Amino acid sequence: MPELPEVEAVVRTLRPLAQGRRIRCVHVFHPIATKPQSASRVALQAQGRRIRIVARKGKYVLLVLDRGLLTMHFRLAGQLLWFSNRRELLKLANQAENGVHVDVAFELDKGVLGFADRRHFGRVHVWESADDSPGLRVLGIDPLSRDFTSSRFTQLLAGSKRSLKDFLLDQTRVAGIGNIYSCESLCHARLDPRRHANTLKPQEARRLHKAIVSVLARALECCLHPAPDFRDPDWWFQGLENILRAYGREGKPCRRCGQPIRRVAQGGRSTYWCGRCQQ
Ligand SMILES: [Zn+2]
Repeated sequence: MPELPEVEAVVRTLRPLAQGRRIRCVHVFHPIATKPQSASRVALQAQGRRIRIVARKGKYVLLVLDRGLLTMHFRLAGQLLWFSNRRELLKLANQAENGVHVDVAFELDKGVLGFADRRHFGRVHVWESADDSPGLRVLGIDPLSRDFTSSRFTQLLAGSKRSLKDFLLDQTRVAGIGNIYSCESLCHARLDPRRHANTLKPQEARRLHKAIVSVLARALECCLHPAPDFRDPDWWFQGLENILRAYGREGKPCRRCGQPIRRVAQGGRSTYWCGRCQQ
C-alpha cells in the first residue's frame, strides 16, 4: 500500500507532466472509482479545467484546478498511468488482449493521465474546495511539512493514550504514515510499538520525531531512484525491502542486535519490532 514516500514520489514525477495542463476530456471506464460521487459529476466538474497545482496531502494526490480540485487516493494498489494521446488510450484501455486496466482517464492538452486500481478500492473525487472533502478536512500534520516540529509532535503524543503504533496510523494526528513506516519509525527510534503515546519522556518523543523524518526521507530517496514509470502498468517501487529494518522481517535477525524480529497483530494489522532494542 502506497504511503507518504510513495505518493510523494508519484506527485513529484507527475508535476512536470500535468501542472499547467488543461483537462480536455474525462473518461470514466469504471464508475466504481468515483463512488460515492457519480461519474458524470466528476467528468463535468473536471472537464475544461486547468490543473494549477499538483500536490500531496497525507496519502492523497491533489490536482488543484482553476476551479475546485480533484483528489486521488490509491488505497491498496492504485496507480497512475500515462498515455501519449487519446488514440493510444482507447487502443489499450481495458482491452481483452494486451489491454491495460484503466478506471478513469484525463485527456490533457498534451498526454493522457490514467488512474487505475485493479482491486477497485482506489478513488478519484472532485470537490469545490479542500474543505468539502471529508477525507482531507480531518487530516493531521503532514510529516514533510514545516508544521511537523518536534514540539508540536510531542504535544500530540502527550494528548493520546493509544499505543504508539495506533497513534502513528491515525491520519488525523500525523497524515501519511501507514503500517510500513510506523513500524520502521518505531524501530529507528528504539521504542516498543505497544507503549502508550502519553508515556514517552521528552527525549523519547524527540527521538521518534527525528526517526519519522529520517525514515520517510530515506524511503522517498529510494522511491525516486528509479522514479515511478507511469508508462509501465506493471511498474512498482524497487529496493524498498533493502532499507526496511523491521517491516516484513519476522524471524530474521535485527540489523542492530541480531535478535529475531517479532510480529504481533495490532488493530488487525501486523506490527514488526525487535523485542530487545525497542523498549
Ligand atoms: Zn534489535
